[in-house]
Amino acid sequence: MLKRGGTIGILGGGQLGRMMAMSAAQLGYRCIAYAPEGDTVAEQVCGDVFANKWDDTAALAAFAAQCDVVTWEFENVPVATAQAMPEGRIFPHPRALETAQDRLSEKRFVEGLGGTAAAHACVDGRADLDRAVERLGVPGILKTRRDGYDGKGQWRITSARDIEGLNLPDLPLIYEAFVEFEAEFSVILVRGQDGAIRFWDSTRNTHDDGILATSALPAGQPIADQVAPARDLAQQVADALDYVGVLTLEFFATAAGPVFNEMAPRVHNSGHWSIEGAATSQFENHIRAVAGLPLGDTDTVAKSVTMTNIIGADIRDAYAQLDTADTHLHDYGKAEVRAGRKMGHVTRLVR
Ligand code: AMP
Repeated sequence: MLKRGGTIGILGGGQLGRMMAMSAAQLGYRCIAYAPEGDTVAEQVCGDVFANKWDDTAALAAFAAQCDVVTWEFENVPVATAQAMPEGRIFPHPRALETAQDRLSEKRFVEGLGGTAAAHACVDGRADLDRAVERLGVPGILKTRRDGYDGKGQWRITSARDIEGLNLPDLPLIYEAFVEFEAEFSVILVRGQDGAIRFWDSTRNTHDDGILATSALPAGQPIADQVAPARDLAQQVADALDYVGVLTLEFFATAAGPVFNEMAPRVHNSGHWSIEGAATSQFENHIRAVAGLPLGDTDTVAKSVTMTNIIGADIRDAYAQLDTADTHLHDYGKAEVRAGRKMGHVTRLVR
């Protein structure tokens, strides 16, 4: 168990790290962040920030020397960076990053455990793409295998014409058949160092342009019917990785049951509602797990909960949203307002 006043290192410096650090502070821990990218919003709530490159071995060693345990808030932290942290003091284990960073390897991993993913094909050039589209048909989505987020690195293919006009990037790609889904949901779990697992309720997630727009409870049908098999799969993934911390699997609810979309080896935007909407938030339980503390209850504490992301310039008049007493605003403190950028979120509860 991490002692009171201990230091938790966070790889990454975005809003997820910021909210983790706020939970850690409440529990009497100090966080320091390692974040090469600019506009490090975790900085405002961390004791120190290493603004060094991911492959700066001297800086990584100096960072590790200051940490009792290390975790990450960003799933594209290079695996080698995570592996540079002392074995047994980084949670989750870096193998989770390795599996989740590649859309093909995460699908294979999940299919190997009995899950269903969208029909897909590996694309390493135009000839592969032609074959993939012929085999899987249209519509479909071409995605970069690595580094994509919030719909970036994705191209919708609705006809053969779309392919002709496409300037294919020189990167490993994957073509996925379009899944006709009724709704989208995620399973968010926390697994402790003793292997104990707790799940939060699964929200109904809606997206705009590939970016999460809202997460809402109750999720209604058909999600309620599909949560049990989706949880079984998520639990198998967590056990197979001997995972410690919060893990997220995203699903499409289809007429044939849950179809796995992708996993995130970290706290997730679709779990932000848990800060006010659950007995223990995903951030607090992630910190409890990596610190070796007992996990908190994940029960929902309201009749309904809606989390809405605040994207781009909408942050400028976000205070106007505090119009009912049980509405909670989280401004991530990002200096630069950009279209499509997640700037904050608001959670509305009905008790
Ligand atoms: P992703 O980055 O893979 O989570 O994709 C972002 C969003 O695009 C998803 O949440 C879906 O709304 C949509 N999407 C991605 N892949 C597919 C697919 N194979 N079929 C249907 N919709 C998809």
